[in-house]
Amino acid sequence: MIDFDGLYRFHGHRCPMSTMGARLAGAAMEALGVGKGDQFLIRAEYGIKNCALDGIQFVTGCTLGNGNIACSETGKPILLLGMRDGSRRAEVRVSAGALARLAAHKDTKAGLLKEREVSGLARAKEIDGIIERDFLSLVGWVQDVPDGELFEVTVSGRER
Ligand SMILES: [Zn+2]
Repeated sequence: MIDFDGLYRFHGHRCPMSTMGARLAGAAMEALGVGKGDQFLIRAEYGIKNCALDGIQFVTGCTLGNGNIACSETGKPILLLGMRDGSRRAEVRVSAGALARLAAHKDTKAGLLKEREVSGLARAKEIDGIIERDFLSLVGWVQDVPDGELFEVTVSGRER
């Protein structure tokens, strides 16, 4: 069970990618059978420098401060969570379906912003409301969608 409210307090705002990071991290930890108290037994690496890193830090306890998280900047939304002794590693990648959903949201927002530029004040306010609702509905979706629709998990290494 992820403490999303705690995450958004830590992160400073409510957003899809911090939520995504938390979900990826929760799945990786479950796959390895570790908890936040095992933060010095594990090491995290994520491919993109964005809000997801905060979700990963919040859930795993692997932080910039304690030196067990890195951003590989591969440009890929993939979390690697490995045991420091090299025994096991979980790879959690955001699914194609989820990436499509995030991209569709971006397109919708871009279209609405374009419309907003040429609309009157009343319509602009209405558009702001639509954008806000769309954003929050996306955050809710990332929180609640079943694991299999959001990401794929692969575990490698020897059995525990
Ligand atoms: Zn964010």
